[in-house]
Amino acid sequence: MKVLDIVRGTTVDGPGFRTAIYFAGCEHRCPGCHNPQSWDFNAGKEMTISEIMDVVMEEDFDVTFTGGDPLYQASQIAYLAKEIKEAGHTVWLYSGFTMEEILASPALSKPLQWIDTIVDGPFIESLRDPDLQFRGSSNQRIIHLNDPFSPYITL
Ligand code: SF4
Repeated sequence: MKVLDIVRGTTVDGPGFRTAIYFAGCEHRCPGCHNPQSWDFNAGKEMTISEIMDVVMEEDFDVTFTGGDPLYQASQIAYLAKEIKEAGHTVWLYSGFTMEEILASPALSKPLQWIDTIVDGPFIESLRDPDLQFRGSSNQRIIHLNDPFSPYITL
């Protein structure tokens, strides 16, 4: 997998202390993106799922997938998320795709059964709100996939 960085102990990408994995590559190209250097699919370094798991298991933290957009590597994200869940950690995933787009695509939705929470949708500069927790603009939703009251359950 193409990984830009792995940051341990972050508190801004979901609840509690987390290990955030930044995956390379994004085609959404949101104006005002906080991390445009992450758009390059050839940036970062190649890591196997086993190598990523070795880093994840160095701490007892839950895990967040971000980037870039991790769903451009959805098949491998599914395998990685499964391993992390089996190790007893929760998985949050940030994607520039909306939940509706993810659900409509068999490829993008492959990892869903191993993801606890998705923060969905592109960053929209005109909707930027620095007071929002865990997201940059108000169009983005925090969707808890195991919570029957989460916003996408009617889809
Ligand atoms: S989806 Fe995220 S990483 Fe991609 S352009 Fe938008 S804000 Fe940047």
